[in-house]
Amino acid sequence: MANTIYQEIKKSLRELYVEDHRPWLVGFSGGKDSTMLASLVFDTPLSLPADKRTKPISFVCTDTRVEIPAIVEMVEGTLARMRTCSAEHDLRIDVTLLKPPSEQSFWVNIIGRGYPPPNRTFRWCTQRMKIDPVNIFVQQRLGHWGEAILHLGARRAESSTRAQTMAGRETRKGLRRHPDLPRVWVSNPIEFLTTEEVWAYLLQKPTPWGGDNRSLYKLYANASNGECPIQIDTSTPSCGNSRFGCWTCTVVERDKASEGLLASGDERMEKLIEFRETLLYFRDPGNGKRDMKRMNGNEGPGPLNIAARRELLRRLLALQEEVGLQLISPEELLLIQQLWKAARDPDDGRGVARIVNKQRGVIMNTDLNELNRLRDLEEDVAREKGIDPEMLRRMLAKVEEYSESHRAHGLPDDLLNILKDDLEKQADWSKRLRCPKSL
Ligand code: SF4
Repeated sequence: MANTIYQEIKKSLRELYVEDHRPWLVGFSGGKDSTMLASLVFDTPLSLPADKRTKPISFVCTDTRVEIPAIVEMVEGTLARMRTCSAEHDLRIDVTLLKPPSEQSFWVNIIGRGYPPPNRTFRWCTQRMKIDPVNIFVQQRLGHWGEAILHLGARRAESSTRAQTMAGRETRKGLRRHPDLPRVWVSNPIEFLTTEEVWAYLLQKPTPWGGDNRSLYKLYANASNGECPIQIDTSTPSCGNSRFGCWTCTVVERDKASEGLLASGDERMEKLIEFRETLLYFRDPGNGKRDMKRMNGNEGPGPLNIAARRELLRRLLALQEEVGLQLISPEELLLIQQLWKAARDPDDGRGVARIVNKQRGVIMNTDLNELNRLRDLEEDVAREKGIDPEMLRRMLAKVEEYSESHRAHGLPDDLLNILKDDLEKQADWSKRLRCPKSL
């Protein structure tokens, strides 16, 4: 019975491949559902004669830079085998692993900008680390192709919410319009399969790109949890619900996947799980790690204060040495340094280098003479204009930050907030001067 269902899915994919001219995009997360989808997609051109394998197919996978190490290793291995298989059989399939740019990485947002670790109400991470990189990639592909069909591995049996959402969508010949990308049509070839049918398919035969799915099965057994689906838009359910997600994820109460991997012998996870607890502690406004003012100047728990950001960086670098994995890149460190200069209690431009240089084996280059010369220059300009040098430095750092990311939207508001902060500080000081007891 199950074999008939698989044959039907394969048949309709083959018809779509041959009869429809649009190129294909395929979301791949490395989890069981998307691995099954990827197998079916690979089998489609493989089942056709060589001269009929004409359709361009792009596989797209995201790596947030804070993925669970065992998952990264498995996914990278799979992608490499997929590329080889495509080249050997001339399948016209390309495979791309997307990462968020350093300016939007988890650590640059948390340690650099002071964003609190994400929770359900402020889940800033998915858009920046998953959706945006995919959208940019899709737009580039559409620039060449005009239109595309996007295959996803979503299934109704995953949850009742998923079933309801999928049932409510209008489809034409099995395709529905993408809610945000007008020239993209979405297909869900394994929509009606049960979890058992997915595993039965994956375990009954080798993958088209070589090897079997036993290691994937073992990983699931070890992590005893679901997968973080490839995020294409905000209507895709949170990867905080069912996941192999980021090891840093503070959206979930407990990271069962990481705990499961630790229980099955992946010792790297022990320290990573501890660090996730640290992030939860830092997020709690009661623990003195947050500014008492929001980023827009309103009252309420705001970004992580600069002392907390320094402490997190120290701990992250220590963790990096302990687990022997690169957790943060030199480029991210430089960006953090840049952002600290524009923070509410700005840094002198050497804070990151001081912390990094203290760590064994890691040297961060900063030109101290150049920094000192710049500082003197800023002091001179501030004196001449009668303004606070710290405020000037924060404003300059903010302008630099925007110019590095080649955008200006939001800059006037950020500059205004720095000015407001400065005025408030001055008002605070003059109040204190009027009332010497408060000093
Ligand atoms: S797994 Fe968690 S931290 Fe990672 S993108 Fe998803 S919600 Fe954010």
